[in-house]
Amino acid sequence: MAANYSSPYELPPLPEYTLRPQPPVVSWIPDSYLTLILPIIGYWVVSLFFHFIDVYDLFPQYRLHTPVELLKRNHASRWDVLRDVILQQIIQTLFGLVLAQLDGESFYGKEEYDVSVWAQRIRIAQRVIPSALAFVGIDAIGLSIKVAASHKILAGVIAGGQYPWLSQLESVTGQSTSAPAFASWELSVAHAIYYYVVPALQFLFAISFVDTWQYFLHRAMHMNKWLYTQFHARHHRLYVPYAYGALYNHPVEGFALDTLGTGLAYLASGLTVRQSMWLFTCSTIKTVDDHCGYALPFDPLQLITSNNAAYHDIHHQSWGIKTNFSQPFFTYWDRLLGTIWKGDVSLKYERSRVAAQRHMDKEQSDRAKSHVPEAILKPSIFEQAKVNDLPLPAPQPISTRRSPRKKNGSFSQQSIKGLRDRVNQNLQGKGGNLVGVESSH
Ligand SMILES: [Zn+2]
Ligand SMILES: [Zn+2]
Repeated sequence: MAANYSSPYELPPLPEYTLRPQPPVVSWIPDSYLTLILPIIGYWVVSLFFHFIDVYDLFPQYRLHTPVELLKRNHASRWDVLRDVILQQIIQTLFGLVLAQLDGESFYGKEEYDVSVWAQRIRIAQRVIPSALAFVGIDAIGLSIKVAASHKILAGVIAGGQYPWLSQLESVTGQSTSAPAFASWELSVAHAIYYYVVPALQFLFAISFVDTWQYFLHRAMHMNKWLYTQFHARHHRLYVPYAYGALYNHPVEGFALDTLGTGLAYLASGLTVRQSMWLFTCSTIKTVDDHCGYALPFDPLQLITSNNAAYHDIHHQSWGIKTNFSQPFFTYWDRLLGTIWKGDVSLKYERSRVAAQRHMDKEQSDRAKSHVPEAILKPSIFEQAKVNDLPLPAPQPISTRRSPRKKNGSFSQQSIKGLRDRVNQNLQGKGGNLVGVESSH
């Protein structure tokens, strides 16, 4: 039976709520600290995963560079990298601790109220339906009456959000009175908006903010010689990136690009402290993955967007350094502003691989030559054989092993070819070539 309200458009009332302090996710760590710890844990767990793969050469077929390149082409030692990464993480944590002082205490208990606010908005939005139908020549009220018997809810929507049969008891100054109520579909949609749509949009905004911030600052670092030589050149000492080198930066650059960019994205998007754990941790892990040195076909992070390890690796090559600035999530700024690398790169990668191998071979050959005087002092194996009248041993060629690692020989010409195809697929979907080599660095 229809209740008698002051207006057919009277809105269902909003529920009362009581705020309570939000308990932390982990009982013994405040959320504002956990959000600083998780990205560091994420960084090292993912880095160690890739380091393990690298050391044991588990997937040579998916390498972007050979182990010899890793040894010969980088201009920073592992210790330099480790030191600067830890320094950046200390700075970002200190900055986070300062920001945490600005965050007030988190509360919960208002969720049902907020969902009802969205339900009210949905109810108000329905008011345009009769006018919209009239615009296309449909009599909304007539249609509503016609469908009311079989589709009661639909009749209410068509009538502009009128559900006179839906009511609830409301307590006003201790007395129960009848008040309009929401339709269940309105509450379901409001629930989905509040719990999923809004956070997803906030998250999308935040990662777009990070991408935009990083693109323009990163590009500026390459366009301005002073900025490049003072700060960004350090990151580019890694021509062959590896996972834990992702945050190998000058401390000023690390703070400006990563810490400040992500911190501002968090503030601008209005994410909660709990939601920010996802933002900070995902951004960090994505950056590590982009430097991992592998085009792994089963790595979900490399499949979500075309901005992956193969994409960013081009930017680390001397010939691709003025392209592919976008980091870490999407590539649209490179596409929009024409800074995306275009064309085949297989030959360039091939040249770098060969040059690194030659470099290694030459070093080994020089080392072998430098040992000759020592050999002269001692009687050689050949001389000993002559003296003792023994058969001469066959001459041994100078070792041409590619790297001191166990399985480096497995990185054959065939694996390069297989990798090239896979990486091209990984980078561009299809067509184009990637794995080749650069010649100078
Ligand atoms: Zn750069
Ligand atoms: Zn990089």
